[in-house]
Amino acid sequence: MILYTKPLGKWRYYSLQVVLLPDEPTYRATKQNYRMAENRTELNQIGEFGLIDRIQKQFSMQNPTSVLGIGDDAAIMDAGNDYLLVTTDMLLEGIHFDLSYMPLQHLGYKAVAVNVSDIAAMNGKPEQITIGLALSNRFSVEAIDALYSGIHAACENYKVDLVGGDTTASASGLVISITAMGRVAKDKVVKRSTAKNNDIICVTGDLGASYMGLQVLEREKQVFLTNPEMQPDLEKYEYLVGRQLKPEARMDIVHELADKNIVPTSMIDISDGLASELMHLGKNSNLGVKIFEENVPIDSMTYETAIEFKLDPITCALNGGEDYELLFTISPADHEKLKNHPDIHFIGHMHSNTQQNVMVTKQQTVVPLKAQGWNHFKSFE
Ligand code: ADP
Ligand code: MG
Repeated sequence: MILYTKPLGKWRYYSLQVVLLPDEPTYRATKQNYRMAENRTELNQIGEFGLIDRIQKQFSMQNPTSVLGIGDDAAIMDAGNDYLLVTTDMLLEGIHFDLSYMPLQHLGYKAVAVNVSDIAAMNGKPEQITIGLALSNRFSVEAIDALYSGIHAACENYKVDLVGGDTTASASGLVISITAMGRVAKDKVVKRSTAKNNDIICVTGDLGASYMGLQVLEREKQVFLTNPEMQPDLEKYEYLVGRQLKPEARMDIVHELADKNIVPTSMIDISDGLASELMHLGKNSNLGVKIFEENVPIDSMTYETAIEFKLDPITCALNGGEDYELLFTISPADHEKLKNHPDIHFIGHMHSNTQQNVMVTKQQTVVPLKAQGWNHFKSFE
C-alpha cells in the first residue's frame, strides 16, 4: 500500500458507511477512506488481540537496539549495560472508568500503577513516566490538581519520575495515556515466551476482587440513580472497592524474588483476567497450561459477594481482570525457596500439549480455559 503519494484531494460528502460506524449519518470522507467501506471487517470480528497480532505482522525491527517489540508487557531496548523497558497504557472515560464513582486522585494513582505493573511483569524497576492528557472544559483546574495529586502519590510510592507528556483538548471525555520506562539487568529480564515444560505456575495475592468491586460500584450507582436520597453502602465491600479504585503494582514481589535470587522463567501481569493471561503464557511459550481450581486464590469477601451477585466466584477470578497481580512460572528447583511465601500461590504447571489449556475443578473435572479478556470493541456491537 502506498500512503500519501497524492494530496488527499477535495473533501467530498458520502452518505455511506466509512471508517466509523455503519449507521453514521452523513460523513465526510476522503476517497481512500470511502473505498475502505467497500471491504469492511468489523473490529469485534478479530478482537483486541487479533488486532494487535495484525499490527505486529506488518512491522519488523530496523534497529539492533530494539530487542523485543510488540507482544509482551513492555518492549525491550538495549541500553548498553542494561535493558530499557517501555510500556503504554491508556485509560478512557466511559470505557475504563466512570467519574461518578472513580475519584480523580484514585484515577491518577491507578493510571500510574497499571503501567508500573507492566514494568514489574518484565522483572524490571520503573524509573520515568510521561503522561498524555486529553481534557474538555468539563474539567476545572482543581479537578486536574486532584488527578495529579494521585499521580504524585503513585510516583512517590513507586519511585518514578514524571518527565514529560502532552496536553490536548478533548471533544468530550477524559483520556489519560501513560508511558512508563524502566530498567532491568540483561540476565534478569523475564518475558512471556520463556516458560519451560513442567514449570510451576505461580500467582500473587488474590483474584476477582477488583471485578467484584466494580460490580458493587455499578450497583450502588444504579441505586443512587433511582433514588438520589440513598447513600451508597460500601463499607462492607471496602476491600473490593479498594482493589478496583486503587490497585497496586506488585513491585514488592519483584524485589522479594530478587532477594531470594529467583528469576521467574516467564511472567505477565493480570490485567485482562487470569485465564486470558495464562493463555498468553502458554501460547507465547509454545506450551499448554494446567491449573487447579482449589489453588486459585480468592478472598473470602470476593467469594461471598460473588454469591450475593449470583456469580460464580471462580469465573470472577478467571475472567474478571484488573487484578494487577503477577502471574509467573518458576523452575521446580526454585519451589523450595518460595513454598512458604504467604502471598504466592502455586496454581498449576506448564505441560507439553499446546492444545490443552485446562483447569481441574474442585470436583476433579477437567474443563478448557476460555480467555475472555476485555473486548472493548463489544460496545460497538
Ligand atoms: P498489557 O495488557 O500487558 O498492557 P496489551 O494486551 O495492552 O498488554 O498489549 C500487548 C502488546 O501489544 C504490547 O506489546 C503492546 O505494546 C502492544 N500494542 C498494543 N496496542 C498496540 C498498538 N495499537 N500498536 C502497536 N502495539 C500495540
Ligand atoms: Mg501486562
